[in-house]
Amino acid sequence: MKCPFCGHTEDRVVDSRVGREGEFIRRRRECLKCHRRYTTYEYIEDVLPHVVKRDGRREPFDRQKLRGSILKSCEKRSIAIQAVDNVVADIEAKLHERAEKEISSHELGDMVMENLQRLDQVAYVRFASVYRQFKDIAQFMDEVKGLLKDDKPKPAPAPKPRAPAGRLAR
Ligand SMILES: [Zn+2]
Repeated sequence: MKCPFCGHTEDRVVDSRVGREGEFIRRRRECLKCHRRYTTYEYIEDVLPHVVKRDGRREPFDRQKLRGSILKSCEKRSIAIQAVDNVVADIEAKLHERAEKEISSHELGDMVMENLQRLDQVAYVRFASVYRQFKDIAQFMDEVKGLLKDDKPKPAPAPKPRAPAGRLAR
């Protein structure tokens, strides 16, 4: 951060506060050279990259939209809501780590698929079919075949976690 008084670029943060709705982080900073204090605001839109869509349009990363599309892929599967929220949180954390200001919707989709593949294969294929926009049924089948191959050899089925609370209804 550049000091507004002397232009020095080193400062220390003396106080950080999150806005009431969590929409920004307010930081009180002290210049290490002239020791004057100033305030900066960090907004979520500046922190999370914009999503560049296929047609080139950019839109702010929308956590609810991402969550919604993952939930849709998980419909009627026995996946805990918490697991879906973990996927969203994991992706958000990765986006925060990235220095880039933009991410392509394709790349974002890949991140989701990586997570879903571990979570539930049906949800994975559903999501993939929407995100990758398979050109034809053959491409789709290739993806499914790939999954089936990965499945062999099949270990004994893991005991189903019994936690009906928080499961996806519908
Ligand atoms: Zn200064």
